[in-house]
Amino acid sequence: MQKFLLHTCCAPCSIAVIDELKNQYDLTVFFYNPNIYPEEEYLKRKQEVVKICQEWGVPIVDHDYNETDLWNKAVLGFEEEPEGGTRCAVCLRFRMAKTVEYAQLHGFNYWGTSLTSGRNKSAAVIGGIGKAFGKIHKKTKFYNVDWKKGGRQEKAVKLVVERQIYRQNYCGCKFSMEKNYEG
Ligand code: SF4
Repeated sequence: MQKFLLHTCCAPCSIAVIDELKNQYDLTVFFYNPNIYPEEEYLKRKQEVVKICQEWGVPIVDHDYNETDLWNKAVLGFEEEPEGGTRCAVCLRFRMAKTVEYAQLHGFNYWGTSLTSGRNKSAAVIGGIGKAFGKIHKKTKFYNVDWKKGGRQEKAVKLVVERQIYRQNYCGCKFSMEKNYEG
């Protein structure tokens, strides 16, 4: 079975994706989200992803939350950007960069992110970032899917309700929390 590294930011975004990929690939989940604020929220979201992975026997890499300073520096000057603007593109790229680096270093055939599940996340932007990384990291292939499509969003809603999974009401960073951006 081919190895797949899936970046994810929370359980509601990833549950249907993990469910689908775990049967097709040797799947590992990659949790890397130094954008999430505050830390209690980060831990809550991570705990829900860990719970799913443990139940389904999917390995999870719990990557570095201490890189919040780096993330803050990366988005400096873009604080007032609207959702879907430059700050979000920088944020998506930041997390995807770490994912592809890890995938290449650890011999994953494929890498991807469940971020396209977010109703306000542009699959075109995420796909563009993934393809650009493909020109640099040639040993691992970007799996380019809009996870909102194909009935997966409906499936995710059902699974979240059934399992009483915590669903946040903002995308993740402090700016989205203040403005109630849903991600
Ligand atoms: S709104 Fe979401 S995607 Fe945009 S910068 Fe904040 S956490 Fe990142």
